[in-house]
Amino acid sequence: MTKRIVAYTRLKPIHLDQLRQRFHVDYFEALKSTDDPDFRQALGQAHGLVGSSFVIAPELLEHAPQLEAVATISVGYDNYPVEALTRRGILLCNTPDVLTETTADTGFLLIMATARRAIELAELVKRGDWTASIGEPHFGTDVHGKTLGMVGFGRIGAGVARRGALGFGMRVLYACSSPKPALEQELSAVRCELNELLSQADFVCVTVPLTAETTHLIGRHEFGLMKPSAIFVNIARGKVVDEAALIAALETGEIHAAGLDVFEQEPLSPESPLPHMANVVALPHVGSATHETRDAMAQRAVDNITLALEGKRPLSLVNEAAWRGKTP
Ligand code: NAP
Repeated sequence: MTKRIVAYTRLKPIHLDQLRQRFHVDYFEALKSTDDPDFRQALGQAHGLVGSSFVIAPELLEHAPQLEAVATISVGYDNYPVEALTRRGILLCNTPDVLTETTADTGFLLIMATARRAIELAELVKRGDWTASIGEPHFGTDVHGKTLGMVGFGRIGAGVARRGALGFGMRVLYACSSPKPALEQELSAVRCELNELLSQADFVCVTVPLTAETTHLIGRHEFGLMKPSAIFVNIARGKVVDEAALIAALETGEIHAAGLDVFEQEPLSPESPLPHMANVVALPHVGSATHETRDAMAQRAVDNITLALEGKRPLSLVNEAAWRGKTP
């Protein structure tokens, strides 16, 4: 029997063809909502699910009685009900590693663009307002030699810190669930409590996954601890930050500026003041969005779902327990 896959994110022909060689693929190239009746009907026969960006609620799984594996085209898996999947023995696969360096580049892009006011000043030139040499009101702030505070020190966090320490001579502090002795050695990074990091860092960069524990990890209290000169960067997930508290901290000058790739609501609501603030650089969740990296992520997802549906261990598995349940 040919197994069936539901793919609900746009895929390149090269990736779609690989899936079609082995499986029957129900392809939803431009899915608007998981309430789509055709999508729900296809789920009814699906053994595999491939995609990203939609919340897959536990209720949706009830429409997929044959589901064996899910491959998200992302490293973060906060859109998936991990416990419910594991209980049913459904493998959940993600795409770590292949996007680490690109996302770390985005983190540093936001650090640089915010500190040096690159977007604001480029807009000034575009508007034709560069009529005299630029003076102090438009000066930025240095990045090199400053203190970088990493909240979360995993793959991407280490990538940002490496850029800061080795490329820009920054002192690195980190707050993380577990110590990272190899990185401490490599980057002279120092582990400290979150509160201490927030009060010492010139740049605070968030790279933790979104979990129950990290939801609103950074809020009013945390912004209150930061220096008035601090620049805050979030390349993790919007909900890790209490956005109302961030807006207040930016408006009142409690912190200096913010570089943001992710938001509590995406796409960003037209009512949000964030993109209109001069001290904010806002990107539309493009941490991993380069041609090379998005291709590598799609390929990883195709490899993961193929291995999983052929009864082999996927390359990157989130829920080990579901796999253990399948092996004697
Ligand atoms: P990772 O290697 O798992 O790193 C996450 C780090 O956060 C780990 O070091 C982990 O500690 C730490 N951590 C977890 N909970 C924590 C807590 N409560 N307090 C302090 N530290 C905590 O993951 P990654 O590959 O670097 O990716 C990180 C996240 O970035 C993803 O989950 C995703 O949400 C986000 N992301 C965003 C984009 C984008 O487009 N903007 C792109 C890719 C990824 P341990 O080492 O002790 O487990």
